[in-house]
Amino acid sequence: MSGGDMLDFEIRPNSAPVSAVERAALLANPGFGQVFTDHMVTIRYADGKGWYDPRVEARAPIPMDPASAVLHYAQEIFEGLKAYRTADGSVTMFRPEANAARFVESARRMAMPELPAELFVESLHRLVEIDREWIPEAADASLYLRPFMFASEVFLGVRPAKEYLYCVIASPAGAYFAGGVKPVTVWVSPDYTRAAPGGTGAAKCGGNYAASLSAQAEAIEADCDQVVFLDAVERRYVEELGGMNVFFVYDDGTVVTPPLNGTILPGITRDALLSLATAAGHQVVERPISFAEWQADAESGRLREVFACGTAAVITPIGRVRFPGGEFVIGGGEAGRSTTALRERLVAIQRGEAPDPQGWVRRIL
Ligand SMILES: *Cc1c(COP(=O)(O)O)cnc(C)c1O
Repeated sequence: MSGGDMLDFEIRPNSAPVSAVERAALLANPGFGQVFTDHMVTIRYADGKGWYDPRVEARAPIPMDPASAVLHYAQEIFEGLKAYRTADGSVTMFRPEANAARFVESARRMAMPELPAELFVESLHRLVEIDREWIPEAADASLYLRPFMFASEVFLGVRPAKEYLYCVIASPAGAYFAGGVKPVTVWVSPDYTRAAPGGTGAAKCGGNYAASLSAQAEAIEADCDQVVFLDAVERRYVEELGGMNVFFVYDDGTVVTPPLNGTILPGITRDALLSLATAAGHQVVERPISFAEWQADAESGRLREVFACGTAAVITPIGRVRFPGGEFVIGGGEAGRSTTALRERLVAIQRGEAPDPQGWVRRIL
């Protein structure tokens, strides 16, 4: 398929869906990433043929040849966004076109074919439509959508594959962190970096996560919740967490986040918060922040709040920072006022409870 003309999805409803009673039990306390809906979307790609065979079908294991390229060289990218049930019973998504555009960028970096944005967005609509009963109703809950694509060609040579499978699965989600919105402790890894200039840091690829897991294990070992990575060149500047961007709030109200320099994932939550913080009257600055500066300003009290942000957890306050030589606390270890206000503002827009001047919310059902 060449870009514009839309493919027709073949709909094959699951012949043995989860019963309403069992579904209600699962939705009562879904956790994160553990419960899945009845269906998935699949679309195939082959060089010379383009995108073909789009389907909505029963969620099921994917048969794979052991020589499938992704299993050896990790040509894989993904996205993550949520569908919400609003107070009036409609169903919305937050900026799905932004995820579609990022999926194209990630594909380019990984030498994979670009899925047209309209097809990406339509695939989400199709899945949410057929699995709408799986969207939880609780205030902090949503249906997490996970589009992904991988090299399915059976070939061990090292070159971009000629065949790919795009897939979307959906997972009802409660609160991301088990303890709710409580400040977390982050670990500054002395050994590991996440992304180097010229590398894949700005692409949402599974390989970045694989490379972050040892650092995350080190964090857990140090009794921390998450890792914060410093830049790979000077090991000085704060970049982001394993799967979340980071923001700093100063006593004069200035909001700072590291600039998108190719080694940081361009978060859609990050982008939305830059705009919401500006609208709320904060001075907003994208500039590098060194770890030394972070520590000095937290200790002097000039730095009042730090938080991490991403689709899954929205905003998570960072209360404590630990590193091999010691630790420091930010804002007394409590969630700060601006952090809480920005979180409430964003969640209200996402849930259709506040005006949406930027036109971010798409009503899909
Ligand atoms: C997905 C992701 C984020 C957050 O992006 P959102 O679009 O806000 O969900 C931040 N950092 C990394 C490494 C990510 O993979």
